[in-house]
Amino acid sequence: MAAPLPLPETADPTFAELLALRPHLSLHAMDGLMMEEVPLARIAKEIGTPAWVYSAGALRHRARSLKAALAHAGLTATVHFAMKCNDNLAVLKVLGAEGLGADVVSGGELHIARAAGIPASAIVFSGVGKTLGELRQALAEDIFQINAESAEEIDMISAVAAEMGRTARVALRVNPDVDAKTHAKITTGKSENKFGVALSDAADIYARMAALPGIAPVGIATHIGSQITAGMSAYRAAYARLAELAKALRADGLPVERIDCGGGLGISYRDEPAPSPEALAGAIRASLGELDLPVMLEPGRWIAGPAGVLLASVVLQKQGAAHRFVVVDAAMNDLVRPSMYEAWHGIVPLSSVRATAPLAESEVVGPVCETGDTFARGRLLPSLQPGDAIAFLDAGAYGAVMSSTYNARPLAPEVLVDGTNFAVVRGRQPLDALLHGQNVPEWLTT
Ligand SMILES: *Cc1c(COP(=O)(O)O)cnc(C)c1O
Repeated sequence: MAAPLPLPETADPTFAELLALRPHLSLHAMDGLMMEEVPLARIAKEIGTPAWVYSAGALRHRARSLKAALAHAGLTATVHFAMKCNDNLAVLKVLGAEGLGADVVSGGELHIARAAGIPASAIVFSGVGKTLGELRQALAEDIFQINAESAEEIDMISAVAAEMGRTARVALRVNPDVDAKTHAKITTGKSENKFGVALSDAADIYARMAALPGIAPVGIATHIGSQITAGMSAYRAAYARLAELAKALRADGLPVERIDCGGGLGISYRDEPAPSPEALAGAIRASLGELDLPVMLEPGRWIAGPAGVLLASVVLQKQGAAHRFVVVDAAMNDLVRPSMYEAWHGIVPLSSVRATAPLAESEVVGPVCETGDTFARGRLLPSLQPGDAIAFLDAGAYGAVMSSTYNARPLAPEVLVDGTNFAVVRGRQPLDALLHGQNVPEWLTT
């Protein structure tokens, strides 16, 4: 497996530099770190920590600027939020109100999307292993599109649709064999990855699909990876291959109504050069424009990542043999990205006094019994006292959704900020929930 891309050998951005690029966050002398009009310290105090906090304003702003970029490029486009990155009901409500549909990858996500009021006609179902039960659920809901990832899956879809007397609108996910130059665990568009069908097989599979009962072929799809920051070249290469395929299919008289361009647009966690939605829209336009077809996008991280933070409190600061450790009350069971992907997250103290105090290198760690439960190494932070609160930035995507109760740590609450308002949109899991559904067999109790 390829090693993660090394970060540039530059100094970490300062608190001020981090905040300047995140307009929904600001540091005030009295109120400390604010999200929109709400002091985050107030949320930490009232709700407790750890806690996820999302900015409705940032979600709306990002959804709008993505749509604007697509429109500006002259594209007829729909945006389907990849809700695997954040499946919170209130977040989906905010994005649904902006006209975003959903890209779902499980029956559970489909259930939540519908509960959030996302119309079935705006839902796409992706994923390499949809079960018969999930396909039945998708057809019963009559969702907009199923993205099929193999010839074998197409047979399953046809059988289920025929059995239900339905027609499935199916796009064929193609693996364009491009290297998106992202972390090995989240690259999906190389030929050795499990996703999609090989480009060389796509035309045959598409033709076969068109002949099967219960299936209406509607187009082709791709998704080449996540957290793509290496510019537009991989996107351009993938879309150029899709364009060629679409033309070949059309030449064979097969219907191609739309192109699903996937997601993957990266964000700047540290100082990565994050591509803009304008650049992505331009790449789509340049490679696919001549087809004159509607396009679909499935962004997740780009929309929700920067909109969220994870609040944590310092349990204690411990001077180890080699390092100063800041032990916080959030852990890898909450935010797993640093231990899973070696991810870098900005860390900002909530107090402006702390944020302007002298800095020293610190290891920021959680209480879980794993050395991997480390959020940051050698991070310049002020000396922190027990009870001081900090925010992990850019935790709105692949944050809460990836959390677990490892070490019997209840799931942290989620809070939505909207202007001067905030509300808990998912309560902290009570300790009793850790026992819920557990059953000790009778023979052990006698
Ligand atoms: C994960 C995923 C996305 C979203 O990826 P982001 O990097 O969050 O934009 C889109 N489409 C598919 C099929 C995915 O699996």
